[in-house]
Amino acid sequence: MNDLRTELCEANCEIIRRRLAVLTWGNVSCRVDSSSIFIKPSGVPYETMSAQDMVLVDMQGRVLEGGLRPSCDTPTHLEIYRVFPQVRAICHVHSSYATAFAQAGKPITPMGTTQADSFAGAIPVTRQLTPQEVEQDYELNTGRVIAEALAGLDVTKVPGVLVCQHGVFTWGNSPRAAVDNAYVLEQVAKINFRTLLINPSAPLLPDYLLRKHEERKHGSSAYYGQPSDCRASSLSLQHGCSPASPLSAPGASPGHDLPPQYPG
Ligand SMILES: [Zn+2]
Repeated sequence: MNDLRTELCEANCEIIRRRLAVLTWGNVSCRVDSSSIFIKPSGVPYETMSAQDMVLVDMQGRVLEGGLRPSCDTPTHLEIYRVFPQVRAICHVHSSYATAFAQAGKPITPMGTTQADSFAGAIPVTRQLTPQEVEQDYELNTGRVIAEALAGLDVTKVPGVLVCQHGVFTWGNSPRAAVDNAYVLEQVAKINFRTLLINPSAPLLPDYLLRKHEERKHGSSAYYGQPSDCRASSLSLQHGCSPASPLSAPGASPGHDLPPQYPG
């Protein structure tokens, strides 16, 4: 349990290191077992956050362990876990380019192989919530419209969604993977935004090229990366978040920011 707390705390700090949020914004959670999750506490500065601050809640959002209030987005996370048992960890951010697409109510359609390496198709956008849905159980209803937008999709192949006029939710097999997917999604949104500035009529990625990139990385005969995943998690064991960490200091080599599965 303590290892998981540390892993989750580090993944939350990674949000700041990758500049996916400012202040205390953003949150990551992870499943503990079928009846509980750990989630970031609400409004705690990343600089002073420690593994022991992670809050254990049950699937109804009741605090089981921890002296701090859980993220106010907890009901959204819980709804995603309830509907999609494959999801092990979730990241929520308002990163700039991805949120610009969310505010425009536009899905991120595949325009290049960068997206195809991590998302097997368009990154959907939810519908707007109704006044009633916002007034009552807002965060739970946010989870519901996310589930609605993902209906019929394989969430292991499309590990992210835009919430209309709000922000981004991504997920993965671990807290770090969920944050990595938020980072990739932000990069894809930035590239697509610039592509559309250069050529508003730029073509979509052809399906055969999208499938090729998905297959070579995730298919049964994938050949991207090394034969067995011998790369240990690069999460350090430090407590609290240091945005000026040597591996991610502003101005550091861009290569240091690359997540393990970033297209090479
Ligand atoms: Zn939000």
